[in-house]
Amino acid sequence: MINQPFNEPDALLRMAICNGEARVMLMRTTQMAQKAGDLHNASDVAIAAMSRLMTGTAMLGVMMKEDTANTTVIVDGGGPGGRMTCVAHGGNVKISMINPKVELPALPDGRPDVSGLVGREGMLTVIRDYGVGEPYIGKTELVSGELGEDFAAYYTSSEQTPSIVSLGAIVHEGMVLSAGGVLVQAMPGCSRKTLEMLDMRAMLFSGISRDLFEDPLDDLADRWFRDMDMVKLDRQPLQYRCDCSRQKALRMLKSIGREQLLEILQEDHGAEMTCHFCHTTHTFDENDLKALLASGMN
Ligand SMILES: [Zn+2]
Repeated sequence: MINQPFNEPDALLRMAICNGEARVMLMRTTQMAQKAGDLHNASDVAIAAMSRLMTGTAMLGVMMKEDTANTTVIVDGGGPGGRMTCVAHGGNVKISMINPKVELPALPDGRPDVSGLVGREGMLTVIRDYGVGEPYIGKTELVSGELGEDFAAYYTSSEQTPSIVSLGAIVHEGMVLSAGGVLVQAMPGCSRKTLEMLDMRAMLFSGISRDLFEDPLDDLADRWFRDMDMVKLDRQPLQYRCDCSRQKALRMLKSIGREQLLEILQEDHGAEMTCHFCHTTHTFDENDLKALLASGMN
């Protein structure tokens, strides 16, 4: 069987270009998008929106090297899809969306109406939690709700790093044919000439979902950056993975406090907690709750 690009495993390819004046992340996230779509039983436009947000969040996630670090991106644009929350821990990504079943007709050019679903009035919030100390929180107003431009605006205004971001996905009747994105960032000290050249290249990436459908990551990298002193640096696998557990659910249950817990015990004789990211239900019966209360709640 021919190894079709869309069967290529999800991965990140990292590159330096222009003698190190800029760095590039090129990502394929097809399987991740498929998993999110299946888990949330999502419409095509919702899969496209979640896919773009997951790819953008993964770009931030893989930048954090600490083992304990998490990146959360929340997009709340006032659209019918409702708020989306995406968390990346390195290359592991998970997402939740309030109304993932809302479907919207495609735009006249065939692209999914992502900004129609996400909304255009609201914020993109980035929370970088290092696992120790206070998390860093950056907020930018949405530019278009298409998400690529919104991430670019975040990098430029919150992190003072001129960036080109292109995110895309092709979804047809619940099947993800391609998904991924590219991030090009100027490094400190990048010359004006290089910046201008990168700006002109931005056009190249506008059809990234189709390019990812047709070509493996390496071929795309070669085609787009070969003439820019491109050096391929490293690769990293990416995947949809939820890290919820019975233990974590128990900790959340503890955090609601003794009074509330007693009430749940008396009225419901147990508790069920369903994860928003993977829909796993963690069940606690009367004895579990009694044990939790007896443990002193600490
Ligand atoms: Zn979960």
